[in-house]
Amino acid sequence: MNEWKKNLRKIKPYVPGEQSKDKDVVKLNANENPYPPSPKAIEAIKSFDAEGLKKYPPSDAAQLKTAIAKHYGVGVENVFLGNGSDDVLALAFQAFFNGGRAIAFPDITYSFYPVWCEMFKIPYRTYRLGEDFRINPEDYREENGGVVIPNPNAPTSIGEGVDFIEKILDYNRDSVVIIDEAYADFGVQSAALFVNEDKYNNLLVTGTFSKSRSLAGLRIGFALGSAELISVLEAVKNSYNSYTIDSLSIAAGTASVEDNEYFREVIDKIIKTRTRLTEALRALGFTVFDSSANFVFATHDTLNMRDMFEYLKTKKVFIRYFNLPRIDNFVRITVGTDEEIDILLREIINYTEEKI
Ligand code: PMP
Repeated sequence: MNEWKKNLRKIKPYVPGEQSKDKDVVKLNANENPYPPSPKAIEAIKSFDAEGLKKYPPSDAAQLKTAIAKHYGVGVENVFLGNGSDDVLALAFQAFFNGGRAIAFPDITYSFYPVWCEMFKIPYRTYRLGEDFRINPEDYREENGGVVIPNPNAPTSIGEGVDFIEKILDYNRDSVVIIDEAYADFGVQSAALFVNEDKYNNLLVTGTFSKSRSLAGLRIGFALGSAELISVLEAVKNSYNSYTIDSLSIAAGTASVEDNEYFREVIDKIIKTRTRLTEALRALGFTVFDSSANFVFATHDTLNMRDMFEYLKTKKVFIRYFNLPRIDNFVRITVGTDEEIDILLREIINYTEEKI
């Protein structure tokens, strides 16, 4: 009886930050952008030919690819698009990590990486972040079946410079190196500058419209790499799902990329608020890493972060807590608007006053 149950896939999925239907919630738990998308993207959606949706989208999404290529100074043949960068990364894991050798990534990082390894049966090995919670590039000299590094790293928020990326590339001529730049626009130089060089034809840089472009709801992710890597990604995608980018996303995404002024304006506002939040938390006795992302990672010597996270939830302020080794007394807080950060800080002060 129920013999079929034996054949079901047993897998522990990645758990994203909780979504809430409650409009009053101050939602600082999923690294979303608190500001709306570019007015040009909103206009593109409003004037969109909805009747045209009866047709499939153009499968090459050339318009959006061209806009992204121009933004990063690469060729159209160096751009791949997917349904959010989670989709792009999942396809890249399947496309590039087939050697049977363990792929390498940090022990504290985006918790989706081990889930994909499990899902696609890719062996992996993690390298411990230093005591300063930074990635040691020397670890990635060891032989491996591929390397995945987020820059900035998540949830630590710590970003590294291009010299660090170049070291990783130099140590790994024989495996594909993925640099996950979901948060790069908030504070690090993109590794896209290495994409045009024949020297690093094993580099894939991934990015998303969910964070710096305020379009998490549309699901637009992309990758930049050598034409050879991109064509393998296309082949894997086309063996799985031909139309990952819908027509509306192509229109709004293109308008977003073409509005560089608004893009810079939103990033500048978030960086200013990030500095204010970091300083305010430090003044309250928290340790906060210097963030290159749209979130901060904080801990406290005497306060229990899990307890504070639960307390804030009762006050309708959502932040993120990970019950994981080495970071189980940290919280990750998304940089919201100044008003949201004021509410957060007020509730944290109430909490600390209750506890001290
Ligand atoms: N990489 C990292 C490091 C992330 O934190 C996220 C967001 N959860 C993603 C990739 C994927 O984002 P999206 O699928 O919205 O592009």
